[in-house]
Amino acid sequence: MTTAPLILYNSLTRTPETFAPIDPTDVRVYSCGPTVYNYAHIGNLRAYVFTDTLSRTLTWKGWPVTHIVNITDVGHLTSDADAGDDKMEAAAKATGRDIWDISRYYTKAFKQNLTDLNIHPPSLFPLATDHIAEMIAWGKAIEVEHCYRLPDGLYFDTTTVPNYGSLARQVADDGESRIDPVAGKRNPADFAIWRNSGPDEHRQMEWDSPWGRGAPGWHLECSVMSAKYLGPRFDIHTGGIDHREIHHPNEIAQNQAHCGCGDTGATFWMHNNFLVERTGKMSKSGGGSIILQTLTDRGFHPLAYRLMCLQAHYRSEMEFSWDGLAAATTRLKRLVQTVTALRDRPPAPPAADASSYREQLDAAMSDDLNTSRSLPVLDAMLADKRIAPADRIAALVDFDAVLGLDLTTLHREDLRVRPATATIDEAMVAARLAERREARAARDFPRSDAIRDDLAGVGVEVMDGDPLGWDWRIS
Ligand code: AMP
Ligand code: ZN
Repeated sequence: MTTAPLILYNSLTRTPETFAPIDPTDVRVYSCGPTVYNYAHIGNLRAYVFTDTLSRTLTWKGWPVTHIVNITDVGHLTSDADAGDDKMEAAAKATGRDIWDISRYYTKAFKQNLTDLNIHPPSLFPLATDHIAEMIAWGKAIEVEHCYRLPDGLYFDTTTVPNYGSLARQVADDGESRIDPVAGKRNPADFAIWRNSGPDEHRQMEWDSPWGRGAPGWHLECSVMSAKYLGPRFDIHTGGIDHREIHHPNEIAQNQAHCGCGDTGATFWMHNNFLVERTGKMSKSGGGSIILQTLTDRGFHPLAYRLMCLQAHYRSEMEFSWDGLAAATTRLKRLVQTVTALRDRPPAPPAADASSYREQLDAAMSDDLNTSRSLPVLDAMLADKRIAPADRIAALVDFDAVLGLDLTTLHREDLRVRPATATIDEAMVAARLAERREARAARDFPRSDAIRDDLAGVGVEVMDGDPLGWDWRIS
């Protein structure tokens, strides 16, 4: 157990607060998961690098964690304000594919993304569609006091709970996100608990309910699954900053209605800021959104993207650029190179131990998960010649436990990701480089230069005297 008190920024109070678990033997965390109608874009993945950092930090500080990440496979509409189609149904219509196949396919792809980013799997990935009966039961329990019927379903009356929307900090009917697209709602912010299918609508996913045949509103699944797996009161609920405005206030309203009390459900509500592109907000439905595969297709290792995320504070907006990713790649290569060199060092008697660096790591991470401050501490620890190499490697295990850069096992060669467009035959490259070394040994520089040019022609850049010791790279 490390010693610094853990300070986390609580969106509920808009202040940093000292974290004290409800049950220190089981810290309970719920993270809103992906809507699986498409690949997660790298902005979505930033949200899970953040939750992984949170859960790693809690674990490292000595608290066992139960972490739930749900899979939204029904209910999330193309607009957060109860308008438009269900995103899953829309994807099925657009592609002519079976909706359950779509869900399975993108859920699998999402889990693979997490593995590639060295994100620990949560304790459970519950599916919304496995909890329809529980969602209906929840709706029935809150219906009389908090809901009203409209022809298209059951709606939640947001004036029936105390301080609706205080998480979002908005006047109830202010702001564009509060515009009321459904006719007959009592208040603009009211939202669907259940949406009936239209008379001529045929949905692939629909169920019978006391309010008609249809599907649950999107917000309901998170109240139901968090309460089912973590209890009505748990420690931390996370999501992207967009969820602070609608989805999470609505979850809180449902939780309050269900318990008949003022409890919001979680003690801490935490939100990661967005990854943005200069061209605009990342969008999963829009064409051209960047997914993890886009990065590897261009020759970048997923962990370079993880490092890029760690360089920013999770509450800061982060701009994506290819130059930024290249810089993160160089930084990661340097770290791997340093660790490799340390491993090869002969044992030396220690003149100092690494405890002050562990303390600095603890102080940085305990300061609202300040990963960007932890990285220079890692650099300084690895470079500190007063500490025996073996002790630096041992301290690295702590840094890795929290930062998840996999530095204890990553090799330089792993970082050489071949771009999808490159058709490079590595054996050919090795043979030509051997030829070139012979030419240089024989001082046949024109020949050596000709081989370099040949290789450049197939996209291989020869690197003489590269500080990282690489002899070629994809140009
Ligand atoms: P979704 O699949 O749209 O339900 O989103 C999954 C998670 O990604 C949610 O927590 C969102 O708030 C979060 N998210 C969406 N877009 C971004 C972005 N550009 N940057 C960071 N997080 C995002
Ligand atoms: Zn949610």
